[in-house]
Amino acid sequence: MRFHIITIFPEMFDSYLKESILGRAVKDKKIKPLFYNPMGFCKIKERVDGRPYGGGPGMVLRPEFFLKSFSKIKIKNKNKTKIILFSPSGKKFDTNYAKNSAKKYTDIILICGRYEGIDTRVQKILRAEEISIGDYVLTGGELPAMVLIDSISRQIPGVLGKYESLEEERISSSEVYTRPEILKYTPPGWGKKPKNYKVPKVLLSGNHKAIEDWRKGNTKA
Ligand code: SAH
Repeated sequence: MRFHIITIFPEMFDSYLKESILGRAVKDKKIKPLFYNPMGFCKIKERVDGRPYGGGPGMVLRPEFFLKSFSKIKIKNKNKTKIILFSPSGKKFDTNYAKNSAKKYTDIILICGRYEGIDTRVQKILRAEEISIGDYVLTGGELPAMVLIDSISRQIPGVLGKYESLEEERISSSEVYTRPEILKYTPPGWGKKPKNYKVPKVLLSGNHKAIEDWRKGNTKA
């Protein structure tokens, strides 16, 4: 899966895409992030943003530089390419969307806004789908892009390791435990003697049916 990211702040992605599971996915060539910076198309002293027509606070990102960035993307198969533009009023992103995207596309283009957003003509010309990651307003589309990359990538076979598997495909619980079996800890204000925090007995029982039932009762997903 190639993620083509159009952003004026590409550095924001650096550490997130370098570490842990996504870092490994990039190394293993399961996913490939590619960056296109509209700023690169601004001449010296030219601004990437402009005042909004009709007035109002905040600046609007000018369309030409975003379109020039888009033109740099090598689209291999139009039917397997998705164009997404982030907007707090767009269609709500969810796991289903991630799953379908991982299956259907080889290339996903993510266009990140900033300030008051991108001149609407970009969305209209590219017929980009407007996507929101939730009912709150962020300062830019970079975090939303990372959210999509993360949740779509973990749907791609081989991205999660052997021992990990998708929650959606098994009974998983929001309550999880590991060593030690009895955790000794003195909570602040508790006094001197530590308290014992135990792992639920059922998880130590070896009774798979009982464990599964317990997990079902503890699922939030
Ligand atoms: N006044 C604008 C807000 C722009 S927020 C409006 O009402 O649309 C600046 C940019 O951040 C947006 O262009 C978008 O790319 C991104 N953004 C902010 N909140 C978002 C959200 N919840 N989901 C997806 N993108 C978001």
